[in-house]
Amino acid sequence: MKYYSTNKQSPKVSFKEALFQGLAPDGGLYMPEILPNLDIKELEGLNMNAIAVNIAKHFVEPDISEENLKGLINNAINFPAPLTEINESTSIMELYHGPSLAFKDFGARFMAHAMGILNNNDKKLTILVATSGDTGGAVAHGFYKVPGIEVVILYPSGQVSDIQEKQLTTLGHNVKTLEVKGTFDDCQAMVKSAFMDEELKSSMRLASANSINIGRLIPQSFYFFNTAIKLHKKGKSIVFSIPSGNFGNLTACLFAKKMGAPIHKIIASVNNNSVFPEFMESGEFKPRPSVHTISNAMDIGNPSNFWRLNDIFKGDINNFKKDIWSCSSTDEETKIAMKEVYKSSKQVIDPHGAVAYLGLQKYRKEFGEDNYGVILQTAHAAKFKKVVESAIGTDVEIPKRLAECLNKEKDAEIIGNTPEDLKEYLMK
Ligand SMILES: *Cc1c(COP(=O)(O)O)cnc(C)c1O
Repeated sequence: MKYYSTNKQSPKVSFKEALFQGLAPDGGLYMPEILPNLDIKELEGLNMNAIAVNIAKHFVEPDISEENLKGLINNAINFPAPLTEINESTSIMELYHGPSLAFKDFGARFMAHAMGILNNNDKKLTILVATSGDTGGAVAHGFYKVPGIEVVILYPSGQVSDIQEKQLTTLGHNVKTLEVKGTFDDCQAMVKSAFMDEELKSSMRLASANSINIGRLIPQSFYFFNTAIKLHKKGKSIVFSIPSGNFGNLTACLFAKKMGAPIHKIIASVNNNSVFPEFMESGEFKPRPSVHTISNAMDIGNPSNFWRLNDIFKGDINNFKKDIWSCSSTDEETKIAMKEVYKSSKQVIDPHGAVAYLGLQKYRKEFGEDNYGVILQTAHAAKFKKVVESAIGTDVEIPKRLAECLNKEKDAEIIGNTPEDLKEYLMK
């Protein structure tokens, strides 16, 4: 498999090069040259990880052998993505059973373990990440104890939640955390300038673990494929409602559909950051600054994976409409939805899952009920404890693995907010 850039100006590269480069030199996003056609008959009866091997082998060869791939997938995807049925035609897909309690664990762990396998170089690899919260936790846990790789995470002091801070700062081993006396933008600028610093680049190997990395997208197609195959025998059209921000998860679902997964429609459910549904109405993509909502992992005004979708659909809005439907929901609706789901099925969903629930509800208002709906719950409700508890009027239990990390000592080095501060740290 070769990967091309969505900007079409850079040469095609292998999986390994796409993985370590992240962004293409021309600023585009890497895309697989072909999406293989998979025979779902052959995948029926297999478990998710076996299905994952059958999907991923097309994307990683020849850099990773099938034997190594099996090990990689079993190490990276060592937690389930179960379905909980809330009524006879609707299920919640629980994507929060990984170590950081959010679906980003799928992508971050696969990417980290793939880098671990392909980093056959004597020199240690240092991954630099700036985080405003969730991504850093998933990346930190993803690379935790991966041999030959060290992770340096920068986060803005006082600007991440207590839970997020504990998730970032209590791992130890090869995960180093820097508490920056500045903003998230400062953290990002520091990381950016480190990548451009010739002296640093010649003295150490640096890589990023950016959310646009193709290594994070591929594994997200596994659970869509697996779930669609398992639900196929119900004989109904399957629709997935995906709470979307950067549209990585949605792009992965589209990959699964194009590879032959029996998916009828993909619902792009967003909060008040509604650039995408507006595009679906008008045909014009007009990014703008994000607004704050209670489903804050989706507060994105310029979804980067739009350009992957646009590439797949050849820039034709009618092609978008064949596979995708989109709508937005407000915070007020989101709170009511959490309460409604709790009352009717005793399931506690988080604000992102609630936006997905609303998306499915609105889709059915327009296109009818004759379908099987899967709502993605992308994070554990305990990560948004306050908001969820005030919506449903009941305590939210904190899962054991989160409670354990809350009891550990925070271990972070406080540094200033300039590129020189980071350079000094890295050089020593
Ligand atoms: C990142 C994130 C999303 C958005 O996913 P995209 O792939 O960026 O669209 C949704 N929910 C949660 C909890 C997230 O962390």
